[in-house]
Amino acid sequence: MSPLDLPPRPTPGCAERPVLKERGQREVFCGLTGIVWLHRKIQDAFFLVVGSRTCAHLIQSAAGVMIFAEPRFATAVIDDHDLSGMKDANEELDRVVAQLLARRPEIRLLFLVGSCPSEVIKMDLGRAAERLSAANTGRCRVLNYSGSGIETTFTQGEDACLAALVPTLPETDAKELLVVGALADVVEDQFARLFSEMGVGPVRFLPARAAAAMPAVGPNTQMMLAQPFLAETARLLEARGATRLPAPFPLGAEGTEAWLRAAAEAFGADPARVEAAIAPGRRRAQEAVARASEHLRGKRAFFFPDSQLEIPIARFLARECGMGLIEVGAPYIHRAQMAEELALLPDCTLSEGQDVEKQLDRARAARPDITVCGLGLANPLEAEGLTTKWAIELVFTPIHGFDQAGDLAGLFSRPLNRRLRLKL
Ligand code: SF4
Repeated sequence: MSPLDLPPRPTPGCAERPVLKERGQREVFCGLTGIVWLHRKIQDAFFLVVGSRTCAHLIQSAAGVMIFAEPRFATAVIDDHDLSGMKDANEELDRVVAQLLARRPEIRLLFLVGSCPSEVIKMDLGRAAERLSAANTGRCRVLNYSGSGIETTFTQGEDACLAALVPTLPETDAKELLVVGALADVVEDQFARLFSEMGVGPVRFLPARAAAAMPAVGPNTQMMLAQPFLAETARLLEARGATRLPAPFPLGAEGTEAWLRAAAEAFGADPARVEAAIAPGRRRAQEAVARASEHLRGKRAFFFPDSQLEIPIARFLARECGMGLIEVGAPYIHRAQMAEELALLPDCTLSEGQDVEKQLDRARAARPDITVCGLGLANPLEAEGLTTKWAIELVFTPIHGFDQAGDLAGLFSRPLNRRLRLKL
């Protein structure tokens, strides 16, 4: 039995709770943002955005602080001249790629990342990737995906990128655990150590840190999602035979333990060995969360839809940090992948999609202690006296696993402490 001191699980059947579905104006970032964390993860990959100066500006300002001598992303700018004819745009793209690969021999995997402008002019980046891959066989694989912001959320960039990798993964019949979703290296190492201590393995991660080390997939692959925004990647992996192990996401002590135990069960690991491996991390997580959540207990949170991490994080804040939930808004709710999370989520308004003005009215009326939202809403809400947390920080910061649970609570308690100190 788990020694975690948690509220009882909500009434069975809560996964079927009503959802307020909204369609209207939305306030979200585009999928290009994913490049900021993906380029750090796959160390011999390069992300070439085929877009406008706006796209270049977005990616540079989002990743600006992380630019070092040789960044692994750039923008091939489509200008008025390119708009005049597809032939020119493709020739220009081939020229830019040839130049890039000549100058950067370490690049083994090149992603052509589509944008709103490349989609507006209907540039076929799939064919361009095939053409450029063939021209660089043995030297560099070229893939493509869309980071366009028209109808997506910013985390869907990672889903689209990983989905582009799935058809290229080798085939295997081996029973292996496949952890899907980009994790900070330090978190990946912690999980790899825990799985090995529990006697679960072999374990592979998608994406791998190098293009040549991408995992294989097949009918005996047992897949665990590390991130809740990978619906398309999971669908493609399942189509290649992988089985998804249902579990909450590894956020907080409770989510991490349940996630690890789901893998242990699938691999028939010895329960005593599993408990011995999990216990020290769980204790550290509980202690760190208790310290960091001192100012969170009894406070109320409101989530605007943005990162797709809303439901697991709300579950963590409510069940481990003692917060109340007013509304948990998610851009999309994938019922199957979210079932274990929804079963744990305490009573609150659950909304899907967005009609931003109506949602702002609800937030203003409820006066939450903390509002989780995108950058575009944070400043206006702060000006109205509401304390906010940028959802994008939840993706840029390592928050998964036992040893990051305290940091995750800290991300929410810091803005509240600051406001308290400033007596705003
Ligand atoms: S929303 Fe479209 S135009 Fe704007 S940065 Fe993203 S891809 Fe580029």
